[in-house]
Amino acid sequence: MTIVVTGAAGFIGRHLVRALAQRDHAVVGVDRRAGIPPEATVAVQADLADDRDGVVDDLLRDADAVFHLAAFAGVRERGHGVEARRRRDNVDATRRVVDTVPAPVPLIVTSSSSVYGGSNGRACAETDTPAPAGGYARSKLDVERLCARRVSRGGHVAVARPFTVVGEGQRPDMAIAQWIAAARAGEPLPVYGSLERTRDVTDVRDVVEGLLRIADRGVRATVNLGTGAPQRLREIIGAVGTATGTAPAVVVRPASREEVPHTWADTRRCEALLGFVPQTDLLDVVRRQAAASERLPVAS
Ligand code: NAD
Repeated sequence: MTIVVTGAAGFIGRHLVRALAQRDHAVVGVDRRAGIPPEATVAVQADLADDRDGVVDDLLRDADAVFHLAAFAGVRERGHGVEARRRRDNVDATRRVVDTVPAPVPLIVTSSSSVYGGSNGRACAETDTPAPAGGYARSKLDVERLCARRVSRGGHVAVARPFTVVGEGQRPDMAIAQWIAAARAGEPLPVYGSLERTRDVTDVRDVVEGLLRIADRGVRATVNLGTGAPQRLREIIGAVGTATGTAPAVVVRPASREEVPHTWADTRRCEALLGFVPQTDLLDVVRRQAAASERLPVAS
């Protein structure tokens, strides 16, 4: 089996490449930036949103399965050019993948829990009407529409909606990565909104397990990848303190609209289709993330 992973130099992509290589698959990692893990059989540095990069089309046409993770991820970024980047790296890049991978070939695409626009006191199910609360979430909904178009043409596709993914190598713009860095630097931890806000925090190992099961089981559906057990920011910060051996102070800042108060996955479809429900041992995963970030080379 030759499996293409886009976004292979990213946080989740790196974990996925390693897991696939461990199963003895030939893994073709594609990413615009360097950093595709050496476990990939082939590493291709290319831009999915650049039509002139013909080498990517050949790879996508010849694959036995494709995991499309590449994206400009994150809800918080704003300012000049951000919306154009989201369109290019999320929507345009996905259009190319969706249109190039042959219809019968399994295509697994990562959308995001952000399409729900947060939880209103109950778990968000895949059948809920999306209510995106910002540009990133809207771009992910457009990604899902492209996937639906592939289905309407008889194509194979599954859409995963991961909830706040944590673990080794988490993106530096994400809260826990920022809190670990701030705690180590002796700086207050920025909290948006309130310490009572909640996140359905999902271990990257379970997200990878979920993606692999989607492929193994030939799932053609939209599936939440979350625990169904949201954690308060207060508890997450407690875990950061324990993991870093600090007693961090926090500074509460106003939350923007796209920074939704609560996220919460309905896990019933995940359990039914994938045969498991992610479970996060918060302290364990934050400890692992903190230990891994300590081993990273410090930028000079
Ligand atoms: P990441 O930013 O670490 O990885 C994304 C990778 O895609 C990067 O290495 C980037 O260089 C690459 N990329 C972006 N545009 C590209 C392009 N045009 N051509 C080639 N490569 C390109 O992000 P991540 O946290 O690993 O997220 C992976 C996927 O999961 C994304 O689709 C993201 O939206 C989704 N997701 C992540 C989370 C989370 O908590 N991390 C939650 C929900 C959904």
